[in-house]
Amino acid sequence: MKAFWKNSKVRYLFLCILITFVTSCIIGITPISLDECKCDIQGSPSKLIRQVQRTNQIKSGKHRLAILVPFRDRFDELLIFVPHMHKFLSKQNIRYHIFIVNQIDNYRFNRASLINAGFLEVQKEFDYIAMHDVDLLPMNDELLYHYPAQGPYHIASPELHPRYHYPTFVGGILLVNREQFVQVNGMSNKYWGWGLEDDEFYVRLKEAGLNVGRPENVSTGTHNTFKHIHDRNRKKRDMTKCYNQREVTRRRDRRTGLKDVSYELVDITELTIAGTPTITVFKVSLDCNKTDTPWCDCTKSDDMKGEKVEDKKKNKKSQHGS
Ligand code: UDP
Ligand code: MN
Repeated sequence: MKAFWKNSKVRYLFLCILITFVTSCIIGITPISLDECKCDIQGSPSKLIRQVQRTNQIKSGKHRLAILVPFRDRFDELLIFVPHMHKFLSKQNIRYHIFIVNQIDNYRFNRASLINAGFLEVQKEFDYIAMHDVDLLPMNDELLYHYPAQGPYHIASPELHPRYHYPTFVGGILLVNREQFVQVNGMSNKYWGWGLEDDEFYVRLKEAGLNVGRPENVSTGTHNTFKHIHDRNRKKRDMTKCYNQREVTRRRDRRTGLKDVSYELVDITELTIAGTPTITVFKVSLDCNKTDTPWCDCTKSDDMKGEKVEDKKKNKKSQHGS
């Protein structure tokens, strides 16, 4: 046996077998062709798929925004609003869906209750809401609709809104995250007709210790940050006050809100406008507790006539702007 190993030819043959074995092992565990690897890096289908997945992740990983639009009889504005918002929000990569909360009962318009109802319908699937007027179009890309992690974010700031400039104004467009909207019990249900529901909501936020953030260092002003596509002659503001509406709606409402808003969701319709993504229309019929808020219907009120004349005068005074 010793003589066998001493034979140099045999040793050489064994060494060759060993080298061949080790080499094939190394080849076995490395990629078959380096060229193929380069192809993958430069744009193979798998690379494209990864890119698409990443882009989707940017959108889908984000918080989901429900745009709640309180609505009645503003179809002209809606046709402009939806394509505009789609273009505007796509640039910001916002993951959003538009919900039109269409009031179909015969009571006076109730913006706050419609927002409450819309919120209850969407809250499970969305992280934050925008209470959004249908006739107020953001025109400056510096207005960001991102998730308001720090607290409510008032996009239609009094420094930028074309018409309302008082410091506690939170109407027009306001972003609120889901938890904080629940925390303040949503909005009051007592406001039928135009005005003050947003001011009452401001007090709710303030009392809950929630600071309202607003856009800063915006390059545009009150005339060019928003387009207010409201034809005030065709769509008159309902400023009537009847019963003790004036007195009650001046006060903070600690009772009504998200928890007791009473409505029927009559129908849900998916709608596409001008080829933009589908929006959802909630047909909502609000209930009115006539003992609590008889002014949801002023037609039977004795004092309505007198109030109307008074309001007309006021209306004239206040309609300098848009
Ligand atoms: N709105 C509506 N129908 C009405 C009244 C109001 O759809 O009859 C909605 C609409 O979204 C509108 C918002 O409520 O943008 C605010 O009402 P309005 O424009 O009359 O108030 P403004 O901010 O102009 O004083
Ligand atoms: Mn308006």
